[in-house]
Parts: sequence; structure tokens; C-alpha cells
Amino acid sequence: MRSLAFVLLALLTVLTVLLHRGASAAAKPGDLRLSAIASELARRQVTIRCEGLSGALTGVRGESGRTEFIGGKPVSVSYLQEGICQTLHAYTRALKAGPSCLLPCEHPLEIAWSVNTIAHESYHLADVRNEAQTQCYALQAIDFVARRLGASPDQARALASFSFDQLPRRMPPEYSSPECHDGGAYDLRPNGAVWP
Ligand SMILES: [Zn+2]
Repeated sequence: MRSLAFVLLALLTVLTVLLHRGASAAAKPGDLRLSAIASELARRQVTIRCEGLSGALTGVRGESGRTEFIGGKPVSVSYLQEGICQTLHAYTRALKAGPSCLLPCEHPLEIAWSVNTIAHESYHLADVRNEAQTQCYALQAIDFVARRLGASPDQARALASFSFDQLPRRMPPEYSSPECHDGGAYDLRPNGAVWP
């Protein structure tokens, strides 16, 4: 009997080690650069983690990012699809490498989508829950995020206009609102001339 107990104990130990390893392999560290950008928009310290193994911009359920709310409040971590993170970092590398185009020379739509995704999740982290409101704020933060990733003011403005023109129609209707216009209820700078 004693030897059986010993074998069981050994098995349990092996299982515990395997489970622990699995858990630590799944929890990737936060992305420092993206976390810093999200923290500025959320106005608090937050973490961006990249998840998924493929380079796709959307996961199996069609989402590019997710932020959980617990008890009506956002947690401090958002998850972006790995492909979104890769696209954002590739955008930075392309901007550094030049020669630069006004809009990204390659994959402008993918880059706009990815910049929008981190901006969108950042506003969820800032405690905005309504999707249309969150998304309208995100469109107004495109130029800020683009600047942080290395775009010039003109490039950032161009990406913001392009995003406002191209992205809403590619999203479900609950992500749009008639209040998302210059001077509308969701205008973050109602007295400013800059839109979005
Ligand atoms: Zn959302």
C-alpha cells in the first residue's frame, strides 16, 4: 500500500508541475510599448497583452481585442490579437525605415484597423462601455496612437481621416452612432477644429 501511495504522490507532483508550466506559458508578459500608449489614453496604468498564435487580425469569434468588465468596472488588462500587435510594431518599423508615404505605403487598411483596435480597447479601459461611444472615441485617437508609433503629424492626420472613412462600414451597426461627428455628443474636442 505504501508504494501505491508513493506512486500516486509522484504522479500528482508531475501533474502539478505540468499544470503550472502550462499556466506560465499561457500568460505572456505585457507589451511595453503598447501598454504605455493604452495607459496614456486610459489615464491610468494598464497592460496590453497580445494573444493567439496566428498573425490574423481577428480571432475565431471575429474580435480583434477584448477588455473585461467586472462588477461594472474595467479590469486593467486588455488583450489584442497577436496579428494586431505585429501590425502595430511593423508600422513603427516601416515609419523608421522610410521613405515614407502620407498613408502607410503598404497595408493601410490593416494598419488603420490595428491602430483603431488598441485605441478602442484603451477607451474600454478608461471605463467607457457603450460600443458606439467607445468606437467614436477610438476614431478620434487614431492620430494620437499613430504619432506614438512614429508617424509624423501629417501622416497621423491622414491615417485618422482614412480610418474615419473606411472603418465604420466594416463594423457591426452597434459600433456606429449618429452622435459621432464634429460637434456631436461623442466629440472629445467639441470646441476644436480637428476631426476626427
Ligand atoms: Zn468594444
